[in-house]
Amino acid sequence: MTVKRVRRVLVTGGAGFIGSHLAQLLIARGDDVVIVDDLSTGRRENLPQHARVRFVYNTVSTALTGELAKEKFDEIYHLAASVGVKLVVDNPTKCIENNIHETGELVRFACTASFENKPTRTLIASSSEVYGKSDKTPFREDDDVVYGPTTVFRWTYAMSKALDESIGLSAFKTHGLPVVITRFFNTVGPRQVGDYGMVLPRFIAAALKGEDLPVYGDGSQTRCFCDVRDVSAALPKLLACSEAFGGVFNVGSDRAISIRELANLVIRVTQSSSRVRAIPYADAFASGFEDLRQRKPDLTRIQRVIGFSPTIPLEKTIEDVAVLMKH
Ligand code: UDP
Repeated sequence: MTVKRVRRVLVTGGAGFIGSHLAQLLIARGDDVVIVDDLSTGRRENLPQHARVRFVYNTVSTALTGELAKEKFDEIYHLAASVGVKLVVDNPTKCIENNIHETGELVRFACTASFENKPTRTLIASSSEVYGKSDKTPFREDDDVVYGPTTVFRWTYAMSKALDESIGLSAFKTHGLPVVITRFFNTVGPRQVGDYGMVLPRFIAAALKGEDLPVYGDGSQTRCFCDVRDVSAALPKLLACSEAFGGVFNVGSDRAISIRELANLVIRVTQSSSRVRAIPYADAFASGFEDLRQRKPDLTRIQRVIGFSPTIPLEKTIEDVAVLMKH
């Protein structure tokens, strides 16, 4: 009788918002999970407490060339990155180092990280920011990307994630790395923090305190919000699907809502006495910052490959986040 080995999985950024939900799912699936996180934006309290989780507190490149250099994995999920436009605009150099250098190191590692010393199935997290400021809607994975000048640091993030994608895709071509690239659209839910500019946790926190909800511009800009539990559940499914290798996938919801409507929804769901306050763009952002009018994914590709469709309504996400924030 052959004994089946427990699957070993590496999650970088596993103390972060999406990574910690993913790690929880992998544990529930029965995997051994190694999490690498330098806790720059991730938080220790997000780490799943389980005997089959090992936490390596370090940057990806240091962990992979040191403590984990000789270790083997069945799957790798690379979610460690500088996230959020605000953080990136504040420190673009760190963003470039984190996103490009670390992903380069990860892909080098992944090319021989399987138990047969061959390339390991690897998922690289990217972002809808990669589309840049194209006004085409919805965004399809093979659309052109449109950026502003290099002097505007908003685009540094987009360019760094686009290059991350190229690092993965080129390793697919030259080394046969079974790689999947996921472009996350506006992901929301438990454990997201508003410190880096993300709108939903900021609105919910304000609503719970009875403070005004700050809506930038006239609030008619739209976004599509998808619950992190739907997003994270899609990732192992993509990596299990050989048809997905070498591909880029939008992951998110295609239900658009204006930011003003979102503010009103948060007030309604949390039964808050707060009001909406319009903040002119000039007061909200540094000069030269361009907000996007709309951002909506075309989900045809991910629907075709894994039958993805979000299941958690935004109202439920708001309720769940509010409950957690109250504690
Ligand atoms: N936004 C807002 N108030 C805030 C934070 C953000 O009105 O306190 C707006 C922002 O201008 C944008 C939308 O909400 O139009 C989504 O912002 P977020 O930073 O969450 O995501 P992204 O712009 O990257 O899609």
